[in-house]
Amino acid sequence: MSLFDKMDVSGHEEVVFCHNQDAGLRAIVAIHDTSLGPALGGLRMWPYKSEAEALEDVLRLSRGMTYKAAVAGLNLGGGKAVVLGDPKTDKTEVLFRALGRFVQSLNGRYITAEDVGTDVNDMEIVFQETDYCVGVHQVHGGSGDPSPFTANGVLQAIRACLRRRFDDEDVGRYSYAVQGVGHVGLHLVRLLREADAKVLVSDVDEEAVRQALELGCERVGVDEIYDVAADVFSPTALGATLNAETIPRLRCSIVAGAANNQLADDASGDELERRGILYAPDYAANAGGLMNVSIELEGYNRERAIRMTRTIYYNVSRIFAIAERDGIPTWKAADRMAEERIAAVARLKVPFLGQKPVRFEGRHGNHHPG
Ligand code: NAD
Repeated sequence: MSLFDKMDVSGHEEVVFCHNQDAGLRAIVAIHDTSLGPALGGLRMWPYKSEAEALEDVLRLSRGMTYKAAVAGLNLGGGKAVVLGDPKTDKTEVLFRALGRFVQSLNGRYITAEDVGTDVNDMEIVFQETDYCVGVHQVHGGSGDPSPFTANGVLQAIRACLRRRFDDEDVGRYSYAVQGVGHVGLHLVRLLREADAKVLVSDVDEEAVRQALELGCERVGVDEIYDVAADVFSPTALGATLNAETIPRLRCSIVAGAANNQLADDASGDELERRGILYAPDYAANAGGLMNVSIELEGYNRERAIRMTRTIYYNVSRIFAIAERDGIPTWKAADRMAEERIAAVARLKVPFLGQKPVRFEGRHGNHHPG
């Protein structure tokens, strides 16, 4: 399929290939949809095996950002950038400065941020060249570590699920199996333990487990986490952990976690539905980090960021309402909610807002030739 045909199918607006020989830069920026606002999405650096693989990734990820921002209620579109290179060996100042100039050339249509393979220090370099960069150091108005906000958002998604399933939001009355207690997971289990909930955790990293145990969690094996009897399963480590092999083992009634791309495929989402397991769609549940970083655009305010993450409760509840209205699984309802919002805003007729007359300078001035 040609690139234009692909863009036709996915609905992409713009794809920019960025090349700077001196800097060794090969990057692709994809702007998916700007109906709601500027396209915001991270800058990923990855040793892609081919250009085609990088292109597939940037098209997929930028489209995902459109849906995530739309469901989060943000006035942002979806975009993403990928740099072809190994983050362990290929990072240089000039590489990120060159990339920053390309971002600046897009005049605010795309706003970049850190992502897999990049960090806040890389963003500081990008920031030297462009106004359109978020996730910088706090001294430059940055929002800092997004994981507490992501965790708080996941807690709101869990509350929405409890309300839906048990008509009750008392987090402490239920039990949780949290897969992965890294940056987000550890904040999440802290919140759950503060509510006095029973929390089982698994992690491949011993130190991460130790910190969770200190909070009063119980440990289960990395593979065993799927089999435990807990009300809520919270995938907060890797993608694709909900698949044909794991779903039949689940004994929970709710799945709500922070990991990206939790469903191995659409069929896995359908299977959760068929088994009566309520699924909080990943990109709605984990939008707290995006919300947090988006506030940098209007002058960062931590209180406002925390308040915004609470809206995830309503976003997830709305997804459940759409699922019921249309008789569809929740993963599909999330996409529908995003598409409905984008279409409604794009259709919005803006009345003529008035305009200051722009007069021909000199027409009534001293230098009128007549
Ligand atoms: P992280 O790397 O800090 O934590 C992931 C944890 O999962 C690590 O402790 C790791 O050891 C553990 N892990 C890896 N494989 C595992 C396995 N098989 N079983 C159990 N544990 C395993 O990452 P994070 O920032 O906490 O993010 C967690 C997930 O949430 C990721 O999928 C990420 O993409 C997603 N997410 C994070 C944010 C954020 O604000 N950090 C925002 C949105 C989405």
